[in-house]
Amino acid sequence: MEVQTDSQAFIAIEHKHGAHDYHPLPVVLERGEGVFLWDVEGNKYYDFLSAYSAVNQGHCHPRIIRVLKAQAEQLTLTSRAFHNNRLGPYMKFMTNYFGFERMLPSNTGAEAVEAAIKITRKWGYTRKNLPENQAQIIVCKQNFHGRTSTIISFSSDPGSKNHFGPHAPGFLPIPYNDIEALRNTLAAHPNVAGFLVEPIQGEAGVYTPDSDFLAQARALCSEYNVLMIADEIQTGIGRTGSLLAVCGNCSCEGHCERQEATYVRPDILILGKALSGGTYPVSAILADSAVMDVLQPGQHGSTFGGNPMACAIAMEALSVIRDEKLTQNARKLGKQFRAAMNAYIAQSTIVRLVRGKGLLNAIVIDDSEEGDTAWNICLALKENGLLAKPTHGNIIRFAPPLVMTEAQLNDCIHIITSTLQQFEK
Ligand SMILES: *Cc1c(COP(=O)(O)O)cnc(C)c1O
Repeated sequence: MEVQTDSQAFIAIEHKHGAHDYHPLPVVLERGEGVFLWDVEGNKYYDFLSAYSAVNQGHCHPRIIRVLKAQAEQLTLTSRAFHNNRLGPYMKFMTNYFGFERMLPSNTGAEAVEAAIKITRKWGYTRKNLPENQAQIIVCKQNFHGRTSTIISFSSDPGSKNHFGPHAPGFLPIPYNDIEALRNTLAAHPNVAGFLVEPIQGEAGVYTPDSDFLAQARALCSEYNVLMIADEIQTGIGRTGSLLAVCGNCSCEGHCERQEATYVRPDILILGKALSGGTYPVSAILADSAVMDVLQPGQHGSTFGGNPMACAIAMEALSVIRDEKLTQNARKLGKQFRAAMNAYIAQSTIVRLVRGKGLLNAIVIDDSEEGDTAWNICLALKENGLLAKPTHGNIIRFAPPLVMTEAQLNDCIHIITSTLQQFEK
């Protein structure tokens, strides 16, 4: 009789009792530290997903866990019916850190995107005098902004969208990285209130736009008086080798004057994921008063948004990014990673290309979107001690925690290239 491993038992119980809304890699994790994860059999892995970039600071960062524990013993939740002594300092910290006048706290990424949509529409009606219920928001095809019923209404992924209708109206999709499409859509639709964009499309497969796309989009948004909304839930907080992907080539660890011409300032900035240091859901949107002040008491809210745990954790999570210079580390290691991958690709028959910025990268496998080569490569990577997950069938995203060292990266490059070698024709 075949012996059932602990992993198989955990996978079976999850399959039997859980909703089948995910197709995880067959690994059951029980411990994490820095760039490493351990499964229930005690096998050790490099984490190359970082919980979709929520764990930029590494697993169980001691400073973040210390703050989490201390706050948990002090005060966890008050609701916004009352003030708490963490929220004000957190709002001051966040607005200084990112260079905006106001912050709205929330919990998950999708919740923050929803808030951004509401504020954009209300700004359109009250500041731009758009006709009631006619406001439109331009979005990009292949976007990923979350899973709520409104957000999936403007997804172009049939699996995310089909049979979940009726879909919410009011969104105008254009191709990503297509400045002419943005210009034409703005010119043709007078009721546009905003343009919602990922500075790099992470879920779609780490699509990086042309270097001037964001700056040109910014100029068009200003010209047509519409809000530019940057969803940096995945790209923000050091991941791409800049504090934010909209910072361009600036790699400082916090808001700076950004004399370099590369900073593209959105009207609304959406953050989530690594704002938590991978511990506890925290998201936020930032904007100046001219935009944020469209919200008045009673018009928006969240029971857990701005709770003292989230505030304390997020401040520490951002301080770790700054103190450990993780943005600069992501920039340096990202260059080395892509150089190593390009050297491999030069003699590879199965890897088409590598793309990305900082430590948000992906390789494209020479296979159809429905093929299973990328999945099989990820299974082999797991056997060789590295966890990554395919996206859109033939793309593998590589996004390790930003606390990785150069020696560890070289170790990982060896694991990845020797695994890929097994699949060469
Ligand atoms: C993950 C993600 C979201 C959704 O965040 P959740 O916390 O899963 O709701 C939204 N936008 C982008 C770009 C993301 O990567």
